Amino acid sequence: MQRTFIQDLESKKGETVIVRGWVDIRRDQGKLIFLDFRDMTGYVQGVVLPKSGAMEAASRVRPEWAVEVEGKVNPRPEKNIQKDKQNGSIELEILGIRVLNESVTPPIDVRGDGRDIGEEPRLTYRYLDLRRPRMQKNIRSRHAVNMFVRNWLTHEKFTEIETPMLTKSTPEGSRDYIVPSRLEQGKFYALPQSPQQYKQLLMAAGFERYFQLARCMRDEDTRGDRQPEFTQLDMEMSFVEREDVIALNERLLIELVTTLFPEKKIQEIPFPRLSYQEAMEKYQSDKPDLRKDKNDPHLLAFCWVIDFPFFEKTEEGGWTFSHNPFSAPKPEHMDLLMNKERIGDILTTQYDIALNGFEIGGGSIRNHRPEALAKVFEILGHDPEKIRQNFGHMLDAFSYGTPPHGGIAWGIDRLMAILRNEPNIREVIAFAKTGEGRDLMMRAPSEVSSEQLVELGIAITKPKK
Ligand code: ASP
Repeated sequence: MQRTFIQDLESKKGETVIVRGWVDIRRDQGKLIFLDFRDMTGYVQGVVLPKSGAMEAASRVRPEWAVEVEGKVNPRPEKNIQKDKQNGSIELEILGIRVLNESVTPPIDVRGDGRDIGEEPRLTYRYLDLRRPRMQKNIRSRHAVNMFVRNWLTHEKFTEIETPMLTKSTPEGSRDYIVPSRLEQGKFYALPQSPQQYKQLLMAAGFERYFQLARCMRDEDTRGDRQPEFTQLDMEMSFVEREDVIALNERLLIELVTTLFPEKKIQEIPFPRLSYQEAMEKYQSDKPDLRKDKNDPHLLAFCWVIDFPFFEKTEEGGWTFSHNPFSAPKPEHMDLLMNKERIGDILTTQYDIALNGFEIGGGSIRNHRPEALAKVFEILGHDPEKIRQNFGHMLDAFSYGTPPHGGIAWGIDRLMAILRNEPNIREVIAFAKTGEGRDLMMRAPSEVSSEQLVELGIAITKPKK
């Protein structure tokens, strides 16, 4: 017999079906045994009647065992109907149980919302933790968001393109994770802090509209609710100005929220805009929380923050970029950049998007003229040889008719946490790491064998603890 998914049981009243899933709860009432089952589509209550051939198996099974159940879908008597509950109008009369795999007693309870369980066991036994309904919903909701975005952008003529993971350092203001090359000992790849350069090179390559649900890696010191790897919705568009990118993203966010999260209210449309200066003066933050009612769990207050200074002074008295060295200055400040004048006054085309006090994205119109990009690196103090060495490919690409272009990246983890009303991003990431960057389940990072080190030509100099 074919398997019936639990969500389809209500339409099978009177039929005998096969259900596969897990024992969720078992209540032994002496003569009767109630067993609730779940599969990926939901929950159903089952009952084993006194003379049932399933009695022996039913007294043996325990929560979290994987089972196949043969049962008859019986309508519940009127007084037992639970209208608001999935399968509340039926009950599965269990005729047979086949145990597919037993479970030892789980170290954590997987039925509650898990908020009272410490994070260490939750992350160590993540495969069990993910069984809880809250986590199932979060991860499936994330999939729905990904699919919505994919379809929406595809409809808008975007192409999803994968960019390399083994690459070269790209400046995003963080430390790189590096990967040693075995074939060229002493040389290293960097894992991408973002696909920034590749996506711009895809504009040079004529794709015009690119997106990717991109994994990014940044080796930052422990900073609260951060993960060493995270997901961005990364996009780039050719022949656009700031208004085009802002308008498209605003439309996408509004349609995404109204379609997938109808319970949410967007406070203000179009999204308000603040200059960096205004935001700092009024809210002392470049990601202000504009919600009128901070206790309303369904209120979403998006806002754009624009007109950031391009450069910031370093402690050593030089200049560093505030957001992205590949950004163009505001058009009226291009002369200042080209003449390297009043560097602190140059504003960038950078736009950030904040939601309820969190930065959920940022991007800019790029510097597509090679001589202007070279000026940025000069201001940052790179000598001409280093500029050629590190960014020669960008300067070259821009000299072959690369169109004006700009883009943005959204932090998908943060956006999902807010949409799901979760207090931290680890609740919306299937296999999250701890705040210290450890994967407790896989036990990473970990030592590697001395053979591997020899092969890579690497010696560990750190004294053994
Ligand atoms: N590369 C930027 C970031 O990762 C996003 C962008 O400018 O498109 O934050």
